[in-house]
Amino acid sequence: LRGVVAMDGPSGTGKSTVARGLASALGAGYLDTGAMYRAVTLAVLRAGTDPADGAAVLRVAEGVDLGIGTDPADRAVTLGGEDVSAEIRGPQVTAAVSAVSAVAGVRDLLVARQRLVISETRARSGGIVVEGRDIGTVVAPDAPLKVYLTASADARAARRSAQDAREGRTSTVDATRADVERRDTFDSTRAVSPLRPAVDAIEVDTTDLGVEAVLERLLAVVRE
Ligand code: C5P
Repeated sequence: LRGVVAMDGPSGTGKSTVARGLASALGAGYLDTGAMYRAVTLAVLRAGTDPADGAAVLRVAEGVDLGIGTDPADRAVTLGGEDVSAEIRGPQVTAAVSAVSAVAGVRDLLVARQRLVISETRARSGGIVVEGRDIGTVVAPDAPLKVYLTASADARAARRSAQDAREGRTSTVDATRADVERRDTFDSTRAVSPLRPAVDAIEVDTTDLGVEAVLERLLAVVRE
């Protein structure tokens, strides 16, 4: 793979697992842009800043020392050198991340950083699978392959709950479903870079498909 694979969609569609699996299978890099918005959100919360105060949020974002890797087998994310990979998946960050990612200045900063990571990775190893909400529409609109994953609300809530349990967080399917729906509504209706499929994206409904089946389908498309 030499180009960019853009992988977008709401939460709980299996996006991360599929994106990492695809990157590994293709020997490509991997960038989790959601982790970048989450890390900035953690910095905002640690600073005691109100996530709804856009100007204050942007000031925190501008001062953040964010580290993000491109190895699909190692999802380390750092703030000022500290590994925050687990903390950014916790409930406080999840509750505040949509507000932070709706701040236009924050998006400008992170999109610029994402494009830099993409061009560095492509210069080094060729291809990269980039996962997020606006990769096909904003970050890499020229990507030769754009994938948009969807799934029913029930399937997405069940996946998120299972993931929480695996990673040692307690949650109920009902609470997770409410959280997933709230976040996706917010992400889809915000003024800047709302979540939506690119016109040329391949849409895959993962409600009744396992990760392996989704991967097989996408690998077949890449190899065409
Ligand atoms: O993918 P993940 O669930 O970790 O993303 C967390 C949040 O970050 C999303 O709900 C969304 O608000 C934001 N996000 C975004 N644009 C991206 C990636 C994530 O706005 N490209």
